Amino acid sequence: MMIITAILTSLMTPLLVVSAFNTSPPQSSSSVANRVKSVNYFISRECNYKCKFCFHTQKNTNKLGIGNAKLGLQLLQHSGTEKINFAGGEPFLNPQVLGELCQFAHSECGMAVSIISNGSLIKSEWMDRYGQYVDILGVSVDSFDPATNALIGRGTGDTTKNQHVSRVLKVRELCAQHGILFKMNTVVCSLNHREDMNEYVTTLDPYRWKAFQCLILQGENAGGVNDLNDARELQVTREEFDAFIQCHSDQSALIPEPNTVMQNSYLLLDEELRFLDCSENGKIPSQSILEVGVERALSQAGFDDDMFQKRGGIFEWTRDRGGNNDSILK
Ligand code: SF4
Repeated sequence: MMIITAILTSLMTPLLVVSAFNTSPPQSSSSVANRVKSVNYFISRECNYKCKFCFHTQKNTNKLGIGNAKLGLQLLQHSGTEKINFAGGEPFLNPQVLGELCQFAHSECGMAVSIISNGSLIKSEWMDRYGQYVDILGVSVDSFDPATNALIGRGTGDTTKNQHVSRVLKVRELCAQHGILFKMNTVVCSLNHREDMNEYVTTLDPYRWKAFQCLILQGENAGGVNDLNDARELQVTREEFDAFIQCHSDQSALIPEPNTVMQNSYLLLDEELRFLDCSENGKIPSQSILEVGVERALSQAGFDDDMFQKRGGIFEWTRDRGGNNDSILK
C-alpha cells in the first residue's frame, strides 16, 4: 500500500504509474496486453438478491475508494485493457461509484464499458446521467416465471407479480432510449433447464445472450464450511445443459458456456483488484494490482487465454455513439 500512497500523493502521470511496476516483468508486454484486453471488475460483493447458485457471494462488504479504483483502471489501461466489465454483487447498489467509474473508464481510459446487473436497481435518472458512457448493459435473467425466480432467490418471492421480468423489460427500454447494447445472462440450473424462454427472448431481442451451466466453486457455493451457498442440487448435467441450448437454437444471439468453457476463461478482479484464480475449482486471489502491478498479479491469475479466444472473448464491444447500433444488434 506504500506504493499506492506514493503514487497518489505525488500525482504521478499515468506513464510513471505504469513504470512504477516495471522492475521485473514476469511476462512480455505484448503477452500481457493480449491477456488483459477484457477484464471483469467485481466492485463489491454486496447484493440485494440471494440467488442460490451465486458463486460470488456476499462474504464481505469491502470496496475500494474511488481514487484507488480509478488508479486500478489506469493500470489496466496501460497494460492493454480495452474493455472493462463492472459486476458484483449488484453494482447498482453503489450507483455513484459505478457511474463515476463508467465515466472515467470511457472518457479517461478510452475503454469500452460494460455492466452486468440483476436489473432491479437501475433508475432512469442514472441512465440520463451516465448512460452515455456505457456500451453494453447486461442483465441476468434466469427465468420468466415468477415462481421459478422466487425459488432461485431473485426478487421478493411474491409470485403474484412478475417483478423481475417487468424490471428487465424496463431496462431493455432504457437501453434502447440511450443507444446501449442490451445483453442477457442466464444460468441454466435444475430449476429452469426445462423452461422454453423463446417468446420472451425474442421480445427482448438481446444483442448477446449468454447461457452458463451452473458452476460450483469451493469457498462460495459448494456447501462447505466456508461457503455461504450450497448449489450442488442446482447443478445440471452437460446433457441437460445441451438440451436447453437445443431448445433455444433459433436464437441467433445465444452463446452457450458449459463449465469447461467458462471456468478459467474470464479475467476476474475482486473488490480489492486481485485476480481470482478459479483453476482449482475455487477462487484464489492474487496480489492486488495496486500493490504489485498488472503483470505480476496476472501471473497468479490461472487464466486460460486460449479458452478466452476460443469462447469468442473478443467481439464487437463498442456501441455506435452516432446512434446506429443496428449493424451489431443483429
Ligand atoms: S444477483 Fe448476481 S450477485 Fe446477486 S445473488 Fe444473484 S447471482 Fe449473486
